[in-house]
Amino acid sequence: MSQPYPFVDPTLFTQNAGAELYIDLSAIVQNYHYLQKRISSAQCGAVVKANAYGLGMIEIAKALAKAGCKDFFVAHLDEGIALRSILNQDYTIYVLHGLPPSTESLFIKHHLTPILNDINQLHHWLKLCNDRNTSYSAGVQFDTGMSRFGIEEEELSNLQQRNWGVFQPSLIMSHLACADTPTHPANRQQLERFQAIKQQIPNCRASLAASSGIFLGQDWHFDLVRPGVALYGGNPTPGQPNPMQSVISLQGTIIQLRHISKGAFIGYGATFTAPKDMRLAWISIGYADGFFRAFSNKISALSPQFPKIPLALLGRVSMDSLCVDITELPDTALQVGDKIEIIGDHHPIDSLAQQVDTIGYEILTSLGNRYHRIYS
Ligand SMILES: *Cc1c(COP(=O)(O)O)cnc(C)c1O
Repeated sequence: MSQPYPFVDPTLFTQNAGAELYIDLSAIVQNYHYLQKRISSAQCGAVVKANAYGLGMIEIAKALAKAGCKDFFVAHLDEGIALRSILNQDYTIYVLHGLPPSTESLFIKHHLTPILNDINQLHHWLKLCNDRNTSYSAGVQFDTGMSRFGIEEEELSNLQQRNWGVFQPSLIMSHLACADTPTHPANRQQLERFQAIKQQIPNCRASLAASSGIFLGQDWHFDLVRPGVALYGGNPTPGQPNPMQSVISLQGTIIQLRHISKGAFIGYGATFTAPKDMRLAWISIGYADGFFRAFSNKISALSPQFPKIPLALLGRVSMDSLCVDITELPDTALQVGDKIEIIGDHHPIDSLAQQVDTIGYEILTSLGNRYHRIYS
């Protein structure tokens, strides 16, 4: 039996949770089809590591498998084991973090494909395959410039002289460091290095591009692309309009309404002082829910009933709550229990990220486990 998936128990938080996180599975599937169309000749895999960037690996992988995706990527072995419990062997599950010591038997037992990230891992796998006269599925990563994972170019010629025996890699891959900056010279440099490696290992599926790499052009597509963030609505072409559908909406519950007088301050550190009499709504989302304290006094939220009126976040984000200004809304418009949209179409993950000098990826993967998650 596979181990239970350690990240999220989706049954834990229900209608009584402090906030609802809507995850639009049909938007994820549409994003998948859109990417598949852009790469006509190659195939489109899906990166579902880190619980599908915080959004729910099991639900999302099921939806993508139904949409025709055959190749899934996770980071950790445990993620792969959990994923295998819902995907049969028609689907390939690649484990990007390679082959930790003494885990070969788990990869084989669960039919997982490690991405071999250095010479030692490759040697281990070669020995295993040749001892048992079986080519167990594994990919091989090459470092084309990122200095992160992968066998280095100089090691390749040594490798070629070595007899690989029965082992046939199922994938060769590399990863781009600067694909979100199309003009960066590293993109072509890494492409050329990868092409040279591919020539030495012909007849093997090859993969270079993640989300942003897909938009660099056909040369970068090879046989298989590995998008993650674009599937989840992140903009793979920063600085240009986002071609992807937005996927999440985070709606916090109002737990308290207050009037305050001119001169009163709000929250820890008294970082905001009311310039006039104001009305406030306290929302049940805080930094313990992955809603960064760095957003304090920086962004605005929205009441779905009044989508044209931005509601400024006032004072510091607390651990479990934050405050928005509802002075501009009609007097009795909102009640305790109503919802306020914190992330959504009005405030996509990328623009939120920009406000606090990070990337949409970090917003997504920080989303807490206390939300009532609703998949549609
Ligand atoms: C995370 C990751 C991806 C997916 O990247 P996105 O930018 O989210 O599309 C692809 N390949 C590798 C090796 C990764 O680590």
